[in-house]
Amino acid sequence: MLAFHEGIKAYAMGDGRLMVFRISDHISRLFDSARVLRMPIPYTKEELEKAVLETLLKNHATLATNGIRVKISSVQRPHRNLLPTHAKISGCYLSSILARMEANENGFDDAILLDYKGYVAEGTGANIFLVDDGKIFTPRPDHILLGVTRDSVITIARNLGYTVIEKDLTVKDLKTSEELFFSGTAVEITPIVEVDKKKIGDGSIGNVTLEIRKEYFEVLNGNRAAYRQWLKLVDARSIRTRNRKLKGWSD
Ligand code: PMP
Repeated sequence: MLAFHEGIKAYAMGDGRLMVFRISDHISRLFDSARVLRMPIPYTKEELEKAVLETLLKNHATLATNGIRVKISSVQRPHRNLLPTHAKISGCYLSSILARMEANENGFDDAILLDYKGYVAEGTGANIFLVDDGKIFTPRPDHILLGVTRDSVITIARNLGYTVIEKDLTVKDLKTSEELFFSGTAVEITPIVEVDKKKIGDGSIGNVTLEIRKEYFEVLNGNRAAYRQWLKLVDARSIRTRNRKLKGWSD
């Protein structure tokens, strides 16, 4: 069966309203995934966005995170010529599911998949970053899902003054790094404190990870004006505004 999906997250704001993070980027990637499978979506991007906002108006969700222990998986991340790894389509997730099962069976929280050359690709549902000598590294965008959170982390870290480099990373690079973390809509910024039972740094959550995670939440909480375009408030007014736009009315 052919299927595609998208993972989008909403946050409860201090004033009780909900905010969706980078909804247009997620909806755009949904359309990209549908195009890969030649499956038409019988709605416009605006209609889907409105449907998400309307659904969220009736629902709420939250999440919390600690440092996790991961396993380097024996399951390989598929080459992009084998499967369109940039799309969120069901077939691509078989390797993630198998890797996660293998990791859990062996007492780990999650797994890291390598690409066909043996370089680090990503987690089962997240992108990966490492910190070395104060610089931040992440795998090149070859065989991975281009995470919206990955892009957010790169932007936020650079704006905080960090050097962020996309390059081929080895398992040794991971194990000798000062800090490691996953990024993703569901996992947000999740510190990784052990890889294959080897402690990362001193085994506690690193300072760079903490700083980036703190700044990420400042952005999500609407405390950083420079990133406001990433936030979409879910309230009746924003839906009415969108309705008017859909009907061709101008604001
Ligand atoms: N890689 C994979 C395989 C994923 O499933 C996800 C979750 N969508 C990510 C990376 C992170 O992507 P995003 O930041 O857009 O959630």
